[in-house]
Amino acid sequence: MIPSILPTYNRAPLSFEKGEGSWLIEADGTRYLDLGAGIAVNALGHANPDLVAALTEQAGRLWHVSNLYQIPEQQRLADLLVENTFADTAFFTNSGTEAAELAIKMARKYWYEKGAPREEILTFEGAFHGRSTGAIAAAGSEKMVKGYGALMPGFRQLPWADMAALKAAISDRTCAVMVEPIQGEGGIRPLSDADMKTIRQLCDETGAILIFDEVQCGVARTGRLFAHEWSGVTPDIMMVAKGIGGGFPLGAVLATEAAASGMTAGTHGSTYGGNPLACAVGAKVMEIVTDPGFLAEVNRKAALLRQKLEGLVAAHPGIFEGVRGQGLMLGLKCKVAPAEVVKAGYARQILTVPAADETLRLLPPLTITDEEIAEAVTRLDAAAAELETAPAASSL
Ligand SMILES: *Cc1c(COP(=O)(O)O)cnc(C)c1O
Repeated sequence: MIPSILPTYNRAPLSFEKGEGSWLIEADGTRYLDLGAGIAVNALGHANPDLVAALTEQAGRLWHVSNLYQIPEQQRLADLLVENTFADTAFFTNSGTEAAELAIKMARKYWYEKGAPREEILTFEGAFHGRSTGAIAAAGSEKMVKGYGALMPGFRQLPWADMAALKAAISDRTCAVMVEPIQGEGGIRPLSDADMKTIRQLCDETGAILIFDEVQCGVARTGRLFAHEWSGVTPDIMMVAKGIGGGFPLGAVLATEAAASGMTAGTHGSTYGGNPLACAVGAKVMEIVTDPGFLAEVNRKAALLRQKLEGLVAAHPGIFEGVRGQGLMLGLKCKVAPAEVVKAGYARQILTVPAADETLRLLPPLTITDEEIAEAVTRLDAAAAELETAPAASSL
């Protein structure tokens, strides 16, 4: 009999009653150190007092009004995003998938309004842009698209980070290039600064619109407000979600004035997108993460975690191969199935997330403390030691 929850997830037998900072707590009081943070969502930890205050204050006044009216909380968040990024304008969504849909529509509409329609959008293998029919067409992996019939046409996947393939594929008929500066689901695979510059240059030469998907790597995760800032290049359109709401459903599409020029009144909309509750929380998140002191702390703690993880890899050469990523978006390339390390971690009350390319993801709250970092690596060390002595014997 089908479970009452549609069984599209393989769920671990863990259930949490509350959260506190970097910890998730079961009903019996068992505390798990959370290095998944809801997959980079709980960027400021669980039950962050500033976010709880922003949410409850707004909840007591006004939850929802239609986008038929002015929404001051939405205006404030848009202003914060525009002030702090390449973008001139923002549209708010409830998720990363919805941001992907608008990014695709915006790029195609731009060319349509120019009177020279372009449809083809170049993407990369291993990408993840969401689960809508458009977003799975963009990523194109068999695992995501199989069985769903005809997909949105016009996407072409190139081998990951293959600049020669991009050079060969891009032309003055290319509508857009859509890419994650650091692939998340694909296994914490960063583009080099040189590749980021090459992509920007090829887009400039052909007119193609550059779309960065920063749903996972954005919002201070890498130690800059957005990951592309490390390379010095900016996109024309950017998708944001996950960390921007700190756990409240919120996403956004940011764009330059030119890239957004086709999106006039009536061309797009969302009932819930940009609602006062989400935007009040999002504005508080932005206030906190744009503080230079906050970003400096993320970078300091990232260096500490990375150094300890290098030690962990050296101590368990049969389990781990290396560390990659940037800031507090780190991956441990594994020599065993990453799901086995995740399971062994559960038995030591530490939560991590598997990804493709044999990679274990570590995406802790950006507010994690030095002591919690040390504790996390101690627990991962014990989990790895168990796998060395009894591979695949872990239960739970
Ligand atoms: C999670 C994710 C998405 C989809 O976001 P949802 O909020 O799950 O719709 C898109 N792109 C990237 C890079 C992601 O990590």
